[in-house]
Amino acid sequence: MATNIKSYPNLIDGTWKTSSDTPLEDRNPADYDEIVGLFPMATLDDTKNAIQSARSAFPGWSRTPAPARGAILDKASQILTSRLDDIATVLTREEGKTLAEAKGEVTRARDIFKYYAGEGWRCSGQVLPGSVDDELLYTRREPLGVVSIITPWNFPIAIPAWKIAPALIYGNTVVFKPAEDAPHTALLLVEALVEAGLPPGVINFLTGDGASIGTEMTSNPNVNGISFTGSHNTGTKVYQNAIKNMARVQLEMGGKNALVVLKDADLELAVKLAITGGFGLTGQACTATSRIIVEEEIADTFVLALTAATKNLKVGNGLENGVQMGPLVNQDQLQTSQNYMALGQQEGAILLLGGEVDGGKGYFAHATIFDHVEPTMRIAQEEIFGPVVGIIRAKGLNDAIEKANAIPFGLSAGVVTNNLKEAFAFANRVDAGVVKINEPTTGLALNAPFGGFKGSSANTFKEQGQAAMDFYTRTKTIYVNHG
Ligand code: ADP
Repeated sequence: MATNIKSYPNLIDGTWKTSSDTPLEDRNPADYDEIVGLFPMATLDDTKNAIQSARSAFPGWSRTPAPARGAILDKASQILTSRLDDIATVLTREEGKTLAEAKGEVTRARDIFKYYAGEGWRCSGQVLPGSVDDELLYTRREPLGVVSIITPWNFPIAIPAWKIAPALIYGNTVVFKPAEDAPHTALLLVEALVEAGLPPGVINFLTGDGASIGTEMTSNPNVNGISFTGSHNTGTKVYQNAIKNMARVQLEMGGKNALVVLKDADLELAVKLAITGGFGLTGQACTATSRIIVEEEIADTFVLALTAATKNLKVGNGLENGVQMGPLVNQDQLQTSQNYMALGQQEGAILLLGGEVDGGKGYFAHATIFDHVEPTMRIAQEEIFGPVVGIIRAKGLNDAIEKANAIPFGLSAGVVTNNLKEAFAFANRVDAGVVKINEPTTGLALNAPFGGFKGSSANTFKEQGQAAMDFYTRTKTIYVNHG
């Protein structure tokens, strides 16, 4: 192994710790020979120590006034601003998305910290009318305690930010484990928090094998809450572990999101939204568009326009100017996309574009469009998490809604239409936690609740905005008789 490759540490109880004989290799998906950095494989003891240190730090942190906690988040936000370009470059190098996408994501993380810094001045309980004379009846929002935060690689700074910032502002202490494919960006976020003045033990950072660290993080009785984003399979294990200790759980898992294009839609807009939602971020977003349900009358025209516009998408290293779609994150993801490209053809869908991967030293695939996809085909049912979309034809709004709902997931759904009545009928009847009218299925407001229905979520607590308070706090009710 080349000696000039940098080794990065974990953070346990305020101490940076670089360890492990066989470290985790963080590779560049646009050039898999490049090792971006080496990270520790945290052991079971490391994980237990991290949880214990979060437990020990909890009394001090939870008693720190919320505005003072907010001041630290605000400082972290400023640090992220000052390092925005550097962090974005690291993000592209380890995860693959384009530099423009990476800058957008780091900006989002910075804004999330700013938003929750302000929450320090607002978060509070309620004062209620007492039922007897001279009674003050009020509630307090108190932190849960130690929370485990387990995140995926596809938004390696935005997802950690939207979990960690509310966890901290409401007074919890954190054990944070990023995904194996993108630990460096996560480390830069943790560094910003430490430099901003977060006391030792309030955040702990572990890298390594997801299954072994994750099992301890979700089954240790000292953990009071778990926020997880990742696959449905892993999410199921997380839930089962958490239940043994009755830890509070928030799970965000897959999607199979539909964009419905109705016959009166602005077709230029529909094409733009399909490309943004389907091929932006290389299709590696849980809110990505993977099914486009089009009313028959306009289907041929739409498909022609979509294919023509997609053909010219420039695929390549996200650090290069002009590249519009970066690589898949790793060999497994590339292989999965490739398998579905082949499967779609076996299932009888018509391949209009793409269907292949590029050679070279990156995990590059072409944007792929299937037409005449049937709703029951596996390519219309299973999450692909790559740049593959299927066109499904529908006979009017009702048929489109039925097809949009005929999946095990319910994360995000979009409709493109100028018909107000149909737009609202769609919004009311589609089975998804996020609905977009004339906007891409991807992209979220940081101050609005986010979370899916059906198999996309544990259907417990929403994330983001004020909704995060419900997950990260518990309510105490106080009766004071001062008569
Ligand atoms: P993906 O398919 O997006 O990689 P995963 O669900 O495998 O999704 O990973 C999401 C996160 O869950 C990652 O941080 C990963 O390391 C972690 N993880 C993997 N296995 C487990 C497990 N058994 N328990 C808890 N977390 C896990």
